[in-house]
Amino acid sequence: MRTAAFLALASFLALGVNPTDSTEAGAAAEDYSASRCGNTSGRVLLTFDDWGYSDPYRATAVGEYLRSRGIRAAYFLVNEFAQEHDDIVRELRGQGHWVANHSYSHPHLTRLTDDGARQEIEGGIRSTLLRPPYGDYGPREETMAADLGMRICTWTLDTLDWEVTGDGYRSAESIRAIVRDAPASEKAGGVVLGHLEYHFPDAVGGIIDDLHAQGYLFCRNSGPVDESVPFPLDCGE
Ligand SMILES: [Zn+2]
Repeated sequence: MRTAAFLALASFLALGVNPTDSTEAGAAAEDYSASRCGNTSGRVLLTFDDWGYSDPYRATAVGEYLRSRGIRAAYFLVNEFAQEHDDIVRELRGQGHWVANHSYSHPHLTRLTDDGARQEIEGGIRSTLLRPPYGDYGPREETMAADLGMRICTWTLDTLDWEVTGDGYRSAESIRAIVRDAPASEKAGGVVLGHLEYHFPDAVGGIIDDLHAQGYLFCRNSGPVDESVPFPLDCGE
């Protein structure tokens, strides 16, 4: 018995796997944090929501840029638009980015009937993560998601890129400053929310530079993914 345990430990060490880490992962399984989306890596996960209404291929352009920097992001696309663009969903996953459920048409789920809310979730992109539109959910949505094999994923840091400031949507510089000045608790092992339609994609290169300068690392891109988003997130060590 003792020998077997020793051999198991020895093989863990031989594989370069720290047994302490697997214990932590086991503990974390009972302790899923919706705002961290299963990110237990300490790294930062960038997320891109909704749709590039003025240019759908903005999603894959920024996806290629992130891939070139070795970074894996997550996209929560509104399926009403994404369903017309299988190519975009496929290419993003090929670039190593998760593409997950953000409902069919982006309503406040909590304002819908049971049937209505379920239809919106079922009509969303097939994935194991659900980001309720506006981050608006309650116990009912959590149960529905779980019944459909999904975990809820919100965010720790809202870039407020959707706000109109002065003569238009918040500038890339302002978005960059919000992320740079946000507390460590929102960045270490955190989830950054931005949108495809506003200036977040323009800000992302600067955000990466700033956070690297502050000592943060981003979810590492380890190649193509499928519709399943694992828990803990596969972000690299
Ligand atoms: Zn949204």
